[in-house]
Amino acid sequence: MANPLYDRLFGRHAGSDAPFLIDGAGGETSFAAFLALAARIAGALREAGLRPGDRVAAQVAKSPEALALYAACARSGLVFLPLNTAYTAAELGYFVADSGAACLVCDPAREADLAPVAEGCGARLLTLDGGGGGTLMARAKGQSEDFATVARGEEDLAALLYTSGTTGRSKGAMLTQRNLLSNAATLTELWQFTGRDVLLHALPIFHTHGLFVATNVMLEAGGSMIFLPGFEAGRVIDLMPRATALMGVPTFYTRLLEEDRFTRETAAGMRLFISGSAPLLEETHRQFEARTGHRILERYGMTETNMSTSNPYEGERRAGTVGFPLPGVELKITDPESGEGLPAGEIGMIEVRGPNVFRGYWGMPEKTAAELRADGFFITGDLGRVDADGYVQIVGRGKDLIISGGLNVYPKEVELVLDAVPGVLETAVIGVPHGDLGEAVVAVVVPEPGAAPEEATLMAAANEALARFKHPKRIAFLDALPRNTMGKVQKGALRERFAGLFGDA
Ligand code: ATP
Ligand code: MG
Repeated sequence: MANPLYDRLFGRHAGSDAPFLIDGAGGETSFAAFLALAARIAGALREAGLRPGDRVAAQVAKSPEALALYAACARSGLVFLPLNTAYTAAELGYFVADSGAACLVCDPAREADLAPVAEGCGARLLTLDGGGGGTLMARAKGQSEDFATVARGEEDLAALLYTSGTTGRSKGAMLTQRNLLSNAATLTELWQFTGRDVLLHALPIFHTHGLFVATNVMLEAGGSMIFLPGFEAGRVIDLMPRATALMGVPTFYTRLLEEDRFTRETAAGMRLFISGSAPLLEETHRQFEARTGHRILERYGMTETNMSTSNPYEGERRAGTVGFPLPGVELKITDPESGEGLPAGEIGMIEVRGPNVFRGYWGMPEKTAAELRADGFFITGDLGRVDADGYVQIVGRGKDLIISGGLNVYPKEVELVLDAVPGVLETAVIGVPHGDLGEAVVAVVVPEPGAAPEEATLMAAANEALARFKHPKRIAFLDALPRNTMGKVQKGALRERFAGLFGDA
């Protein structure tokens, strides 16, 4: 029976002895072995009472079995709902209840902790592995490898993926088979992945980046993945001679650069370094190229849209930009208030339309209607502009825009000026409540290790480069910016921390 997602990404590798997953010690799982495992897990899920369309929530450590659970869901017509392994039991309760998940799959160590959560939501609790007789893996052992693939269509839901919660409560993005398949095909072709590629996979698999970009592209290409539990710079450097590509968040690249033994030689066999999920500093770009000779390819996407833009594989990879809209994806910049299109070069709201764009937010019809226009354009919430050559620049999130004395200040513009001051590692510029101005510009500056940039120097740089209303009213120094697991700066946390800076505004 037809099931485009399963057939295209998984089923066509049936019988292939080529390696799909490689562990850090060199152990290999072939495509055939991976698919057999997934088929048996699919059987176990059916035996546990799960039916097509059910949501399968999973908070499990990264492992081949955890990835096989994704394949098993695809084959069974179940909606996969992976969850951040850092979430506490209390946090998980929200996701399980909100999604109406039929079951929650967890690691055995979490079983006791999560049992009340699952019970409170009426979801069945299943453990993935760990040797116990009741685990999904134990139940899978007795299952057939000839699981009858459940028929599904391209418009059916494949996954319910919650956003990272950077700007507020996470929202469930409904992703269809078409959303995932279109991105897998486009990115594979654009980035020229083939069966000869070996991807260093050090990202988590509960987020769109590690699951749908990295994994789906490698499935589409038929290449293999060195499947690491997490990112550790030394380990990644050791394994790099066996790989051809790395997909990472910007912090991967800054960490690699902190290692002296990361050199041109280490990276010599690599074909491609890709970055996304958060802005890559131009400084990282420059240093990486000077050190290795490689230019990092930056791209942009979000849970709701999968990937929307990418710098070119061939041609100029322009620092400070996320490249061009992907083939088949339309991108426009609109006035955030009126929704009207803006002339080229102006900053406005980024809107995206294409087969990559999700079907809406789970259980939030009003929010969906407000952000997903009837004509198919999705209002991303990110501000940006398109430069004269068509490269898209992300200026920041609409929610981070500062309105100071009635005038718009784009934090990124101020951050770029301060980042360039010697001794500054990075900055985050935020708006803080202020009696006269409504919001005042505040710069949070992280010095480079051992450096101590002076406030006066920073202010002078701002004075020279920026109009007066954009100047920071205060500069605060921190050792590091608060970041979530995907390396995203949590400006909300900074705003809370500095909320009282100007008294009771
Ligand atoms: P929430 O929507 O719950 O607040 P989130 O937006 O961080 O969380 P994700 O979908 O994981 O959740 O992240 C998408 C966002 O990440 C984009 O909207 C954009 O702001 C940011 N982003 C992704 N790639 C880039 C990039 N290359 N440069 C700048 N920002 C990026
Ligand atoms: Mg978002």
